[in-house]
Amino acid sequence: MQNKQKGGISVDAANIFPVIKKWLYSEKDIFLREIVSNATDAITKLKRLQSLGEAPTGELPFSIHVRLNKAASTLTVEDNGIGMTEEELKRYICSIALSGAVDFINKYEGEGSKGGIIGHFGLGFYSAFMVSEQVEIHTRSYTGAPAVHWTCTADGDYEIEPSERKAVGTEIIMHIEQGESEYLDAQQIRTILQKYCAFMPVPIYFDDGSDKKEDEDESPVNDTEPLWQKAPAECTEEDYKVFYNKVFSDFREPLFSIHINADYPLNFKGILYFPRISNQYESLEGQVKLYYNQVFVADNIKEVIPEYLLMLKGVLDCPELPLNVSRSYLQTNSYVSKVSAHIIKKVADKLVSLSKNERERYEKVWNDIKTFVEYAAMRDTKFRDRIKDHFLLKLTTGEHKTIDEYLEAAQSTHENTIYYTTDKALQAQYVALFEKKGIAVAELDSILDTQFAASEEGHRQGVKFLRVDADLGALEASKDDTENQALRNLFCTVSGNDKLTVKQSTLENSNVPAILSVSEESRRMEDMMKMYRMAQSDDEDFAFPLDMALVLNTEAPLIKKLIRMQESSSEKATALATQIYRLALLSHRRLSADELKTFLEDSYGLLLDLGES
Ligand code: ADP
Repeated sequence: MQNKQKGGISVDAANIFPVIKKWLYSEKDIFLREIVSNATDAITKLKRLQSLGEAPTGELPFSIHVRLNKAASTLTVEDNGIGMTEEELKRYICSIALSGAVDFINKYEGEGSKGGIIGHFGLGFYSAFMVSEQVEIHTRSYTGAPAVHWTCTADGDYEIEPSERKAVGTEIIMHIEQGESEYLDAQQIRTILQKYCAFMPVPIYFDDGSDKKEDEDESPVNDTEPLWQKAPAECTEEDYKVFYNKVFSDFREPLFSIHINADYPLNFKGILYFPRISNQYESLEGQVKLYYNQVFVADNIKEVIPEYLLMLKGVLDCPELPLNVSRSYLQTNSYVSKVSAHIIKKVADKLVSLSKNERERYEKVWNDIKTFVEYAAMRDTKFRDRIKDHFLLKLTTGEHKTIDEYLEAAQSTHENTIYYTTDKALQAQYVALFEKKGIAVAELDSILDTQFAASEEGHRQGVKFLRVDADLGALEASKDDTENQALRNLFCTVSGNDKLTVKQSTLENSNVPAILSVSEESRRMEDMMKMYRMAQSDDEDFAFPLDMALVLNTEAPLIKKLIRMQESSSEKATALATQIYRLALLSHRRLSADELKTFLEDSYGLLLDLGES
């Protein structure tokens, strides 16, 4: 080698460095991932050559050292991998890689500025210039060729000269730019290593430059054999739990996990967890970390993982993912869609297997997973089809039934109808009437539950979900044909609504004098309007014209009494009817402030009238 050579990195683009700096601005941290993963690759290559007998086996264990030197403003990454000869260094570092980078930038620059590039793989080594004013390489090839020292400034001018380096391998010294001093902060570097390099396959040691005691036992910052790489048969529940706690810093126990270990024809591995959600206010956003051969790429890439699965937590390692491409490319990539389909199948299989083989456990976790399951089923009919026989309904009695189990039990009384309550306390009167009649009532207590029910109606021909106050037909023993017109008129008067539908019938075994029913359709419409208006304004007084009916139980003692009273005193009859109507209203919905006030005042008056004897 000549003693000293000089050159200028000349490429099509006038000066690539400013472009690199600007382009990757938002994700500068990845430079360290690129440099460390190059070091990992160099070691993997040397291992392979050794196993083929093409390189001598060394004494030292393979490792990567990341060293911080604050005083010298340098961050160094050293490996004992394959190394480079002078010729290789020129070929890989000075020309090809760079021209590749130019192509890459030309192709994706626009998308990059919108955060469109996934992973940014491909820029590799040159990303070091995002944070460095100068980068040095000392490298010695395994072939025995002389060691080389390369120095390059941020202007793209480089020098090559002989290096003093003795050991086979490569040392990259990054002289951190003045404005990037955060990369001289030990905690910052540790955080970046933990984020991107936590599962890289070669032990990585971090020397933060502080004085350590001699005998201090240094341990690598990474786990070189992450759990997802193991065969599921070798992993215990405890292993999954510990891994979860560590990776997500979430010390609650996950509900259950799914280990995906596909080799052929699809090559990808991963572990997905159903997290425990402690309260309804907690964000439902999970975290699915995507890796490329144990190198962290990004969180929650929705092109790879179906959006509804992003509620889960987990890790996925997709070694065949084309990472240096744009999001739009990923959306149409067939490997990506196969991975996605496989994940969906695995998640569905797990749910089905829990439901079939561990029903008790399935019922126990149902409340925590139903949001996810219902949402996923509504988003993806393929997913729904796989688990459609395993949606559970939680009954007011505490039992759980699948939809089919519910319908089967209902066959004799209310075929194809599933009765539900959206608020067990508020609708207690209705629920009690149904329970008394031996009809099971399901609890659909979230907006998603009711939306899911409506979506299931679309899939299950003839099946209808009715809220307990929607149709009291199932409770009626018989219709009273002889309609009492005077009674009807009385209730129209006291309700202040002369168009009120008043039905007269007999509710079996019940003393309830009157009860309101609202057609399911009109109530669903109202719910929708409310949701829509809630998003627009805080207008609480909004009322949608409901299709409402008052059902009078002509067998109830109070109605019988009312009929008798009507004949003697119309004043007293009106007072009684008013109170009966308000009681019906009360068991149907919350009273307004005015309604409650007059209801209470009138009740005190009635109590006074009770007499003392
Ligand atoms: P990529 O890694 O995507 O090929 P890079 O720009 O990161 O692109 O690296 C270009 C090439 O330089 C690598 O393919 C490799 O041959 C060589 N190289 C980089 N870092 C090292 C290293 N630590 N040891 C040996 N060779 C390296």
